[in-house]
Amino acid sequence: MKREEKASISIMKIICVSIILILISGISVMAVNTDLKDVTITLQNGYEMTTMTSKSKVSDILSENNIILNEDQKTIPDLDSEIASGDTIKITDKSYNEVQIAKISEEGIETSLNQLLENYAPITEKIVVEQVVIPYETITKNTTGTSTDTTNKVVQQGKDGLKEVTYKVKYQNDVEIEKSVISEVVVEEPVNKIVQVQKKTTSRSSTLPRASSASTTGGTVYKITAYCPCSKCCGKSTGRTASGTTAIAGRTVAASSKFAFGTKLNIGGHVYTVEDRGGAVNGNKIDIFVNTHAEALQWGVRYLNVSVVN
Ligand SMILES: [Zn+2]
Repeated sequence: MKREEKASISIMKIICVSIILILISGISVMAVNTDLKDVTITLQNGYEMTTMTSKSKVSDILSENNIILNEDQKTIPDLDSEIASGDTIKITDKSYNEVQIAKISEEGIETSLNQLLENYAPITEKIVVEQVVIPYETITKNTTGTSTDTTNKVVQQGKDGLKEVTYKVKYQNDVEIEKSVISEVVVEEPVNKIVQVQKKTTSRSSTLPRASSASTTGGTVYKITAYCPCSKCCGKSTGRTASGTTAIAGRTVAASSKFAFGTKLNIGGHVYTVEDRGGAVNGNKIDIFVNTHAEALQWGVRYLNVSVVN
């Protein structure tokens, strides 16, 4: 019996001690709970972070989270304020004024709200000069002919122009909200690209081109090159033409056999005489005789209207 008594007493002791322990630990948990605050910090970029803190002063909570304010930043509520659990600390621009919003909502005055909006998001204007490319246009010139078989020849290469445009740009919170043109100055005019659609006269090439005398409008476009008496141009420099005449610059041209020797051709407004032939002078090609190789090079390749002069 004695043993049982002893045992029940010790069990009672254990129960008492453990009850006390539970109470103590419960109280301490409650104490910790009341000390720690749940605080939300909203950064200026909108990012929200929540933190548990034992501190209650705003500046202490910020430094605990390694948050340092810029010169133009402030907190709502201010740094010296004491806050409670569940509160939010908002980091914002100094120009943002929440107190004023509260006042206005009481007074309900529209003009001061506008002032406030301007305060919060001031509109700035800037004059901006931009260089803008003026794209060149492509002009197509058709030449007369009967064939549907055509080749495109670029007569003039196009070149983009440039203009300086002055804009007035309005910004709000560094965002462009309005852009209007004030003036435009052309710095460089564009050069049009000219493409000549050359129709190949195939079946009718044997018949003489229209005999429209000195008119240059009714002719056919030929590829006009130039040659001189040098060995590069002629292989041999005799100065004598295939028809037996002496070549004279400004008169002598080499053409294919569709033009008889002596035929007078109006080439781009100047009248020449067919006096020569050439291996490369076939189809719609004519070679104009010049005195020097430099002149021949300078002439290059031209596409000109050609018509037979009666
Ligand atoms: Zn030559």
